[in-house]
Amino acid sequence: MSFKLDLHIHTQSFGRTFMNEYQLKESLRRRGMDGIAVTNFFNITHALWLKEKLPEFVIVVGQEIWTAAGHVIALGIKEKIGDFLSAEETLRRIHDQGGIAVAVHPYLHLGLGGRIRRLPFDAVEVYNASLGSVGIYNILARRLARGLPLGHVAGTDTTDTAFIGQGCTEVLADRPEDILDAIRRGRTRVSGKPLPLPLKFIIKNFLKYRDLEPCSLHATLCLICGKSMRVRVFKKKFRCEECGKIEAARVACCNGHYLCWDCATRRLHARDDTRRYEEENKIFRERCGRAHFQL
Ligand SMILES: [Zn+2]
Ligand SMILES: [Zn+2]
Ligand SMILES: [Zn+2]
Ligand SMILES: [Zn+2]
Repeated sequence: MSFKLDLHIHTQSFGRTFMNEYQLKESLRRRGMDGIAVTNFFNITHALWLKEKLPEFVIVVGQEIWTAAGHVIALGIKEKIGDFLSAEETLRRIHDQGGIAVAVHPYLHLGLGGRIRRLPFDAVEVYNASLGSVGIYNILARRLARGLPLGHVAGTDTTDTAFIGQGCTEVLADRPEDILDAIRRGRTRVSGKPLPLPLKFIIKNFLKYRDLEPCSLHATLCLICGKSMRVRVFKKKFRCEECGKIEAARVACCNGHYLCWDCATRRLHARDDTRRYEEENKIFRERCGRAHFQL
């Protein structure tokens, strides 16, 4: 027997609820899926809520964690895991809770790349449907995973119920409680279909619109002025606002602020998660006029 799961779904973020239990149920039925992993940033409350509300589906309680080295997903955890710790410490905490650690989008700039070879991961996300239209990220992830004794998973990394299942992991297990172990043992088949390119965002971004609503959860707001980030086609030299280091980068804020990776993670770490979350909610509320946390 097998379970068709989408193992990377964001149901809430930036103070918004993107899908509730009714929308999720409808979407899973329509798409013939057995379940999802809820992998929100910074907390697992909505994951626990959905698991209770949808007993007829497999709801894996997960969290996308921001480690000092990049993003990692924990699946099957019981308590929220702190962010901005080292990757080693994060993985230790995931395993202490009986969860499994997945190296997600390893070749996105927020992924861990080849460093996953030296860390005790359980699985690699070899297909991320949000990155599907930019083929190279998933091609490299598959190539990296080929030589490693890790499970392979796929997920959509979306906030939109319309796309659930476009990154699909078929887990070969007899019972829902065996799913994590089956992933760890590599008993999976992955398939996927890319999400459409966010054309509106791309066009606006390149027309130099000043302040854009981020098109992806990976686009955090500027840690200095709170405005949105701009992505350039070609790298440009920026000076880090904090340590003064000059380096070439593609992503900086629309007001020109730039922070190197170390300074940016240090800043994020220095702030309390909850406060950061509240700050982002406030900015979103002001900008989009829609922000609500509903359980
Ligand atoms: Zn991520
Ligand atoms: Zn994600
Ligand atoms: Zn800024
Ligand atoms: Zn710096």
